[in-house]
Amino acid sequence: MVTTRRLRPGENVLMDQPLAFGPLPYSSAVCLGCHRLLTGELFRCPGCWWPLCSEECATSKLHDKECPILAKDTEHLAVPENNEETMRYDIIMVLRILMLRDSNPEKWGVVMAMEHHSEQRAEEGKVELDISVYVLNKLLGLDFTRKEVEQVRGAIATNAMQMTSPYGVPLRALHPRIHFFNHACTPNLQLSFTTEGAMYARTAVALEPGEPMYVTYTGTAMPLWERRTCLKENYFFTCECNRCDDPSEMDTDFSNPRCLECSNMIMKPQTWLENLKWVCPNCKAEKSEQRVKDEVQTVLSTLEMSDVSDTSSIRRLQFLLEQVEQEFHSQHFVWMKVAQKMLHKLMNDDTNRGLALRVEIWKKLSVLYGKLEPGMTRKRGEARSTAAAPRAGQALGAACDSSACFATPTLLVPLLLPSPAPSLLPLPSPG
Ligand SMILES: [Zn+2]
Ligand SMILES: [Zn+2]
Ligand SMILES: [Zn+2]
Ligand SMILES: [Zn+2]
Repeated sequence: MVTTRRLRPGENVLMDQPLAFGPLPYSSAVCLGCHRLLTGELFRCPGCWWPLCSEECATSKLHDKECPILAKDTEHLAVPENNEETMRYDIIMVLRILMLRDSNPEKWGVVMAMEHHSEQRAEEGKVELDISVYVLNKLLGLDFTRKEVEQVRGAIATNAMQMTSPYGVPLRALHPRIHFFNHACTPNLQLSFTTEGAMYARTAVALEPGEPMYVTYTGTAMPLWERRTCLKENYFFTCECNRCDDPSEMDTDFSNPRCLECSNMIMKPQTWLENLKWVCPNCKAEKSEQRVKDEVQTVLSTLEMSDVSDTSSIRRLQFLLEQVEQEFHSQHFVWMKVAQKMLHKLMNDDTNRGLALRVEIWKKLSVLYGKLEPGMTRKRGEARSTAAAPRAGQALGAACDSSACFATPTLLVPLLLPSPAPSLLPLPSPG
């Protein structure tokens, strides 16, 4: 997708209504009528026995057409047994899309024209495909060909986005056009969606006529090796975007370690090799991909262990941050992880020291985010809001229940935990 005219930052370039949306494949009990999370004793749909929040949802717009189909499973073999997480929800989204074949041939045509990578996925998704075909054709008495089911599963895996229901439940949604955007690790578009599933694409930066527009399939906060693996395993390509092509990753050295011999030198990746390695521009010392990953993992493990809410943990995090700045540098991926954790921890600290520390970290993070996601982006706004909010609950804590509220969508793979919906309040200045 390219621009046809000059665009200012923040301009809307696409609004897309979903073809279908539904629960994540692995989900705890969720109402099929309104996508509310269900706890305690489960109410069952009088028609199909699937868990619902109330009788009202049995005839809701979302559930009324699939209900008589699901009801064919008279022994409830595919129905979730309780409110524990289960793969049984996998079939719902697949069924909702397959139903388009007979109910809406035009939308069905759009799904069938989508990239699905079925050949590449043939082996890994075989068991899930077998189960889908069994449930659909044996238990529900439908007549979909294996190829149709495979293609729909592939279209979801390749193109579905993660969104959030009005009740804060993570869902997946398939849109007709948003998937036309190519990927870049530093995108120039920002995506957002409403709780009804409409997806918006807006420019983050000014664009000239004819410029390609990019979204990110991976998120921007992954180091080089994680982005590369994610894109290869899920989308079957090797990224050659400006950021991946640049050994300094937009002047951040986000994934690059220091050289042990010459401590001021940052090593640079040799990205054209099958196995990444980093080389010191000064002494030519090398570090393997595994070694770099291990160094990062050591810090991440320490960070996980510091995840206790005692009063000394901020001090420990501060110590860890200083250590990481020395061992790596202050725009490295692990530095960002520690800094984010610390910002989060400091939300409950409104002492002068705590506030000063928060602003200091935010300023550095903001510079980093401005390079990874330049322009008018939510990432910077969120960090700023977190830095400035007096209390955790006043920033991004509570899920917004307004349908006008936009939340950050992510592609389904990798399946990320939903980020809390940003508040619509104007962002206060730090300090
Ligand atoms: Zn409901
Ligand atoms: Zn039902
Ligand atoms: Zn890239
Ligand atoms: Zn060196």
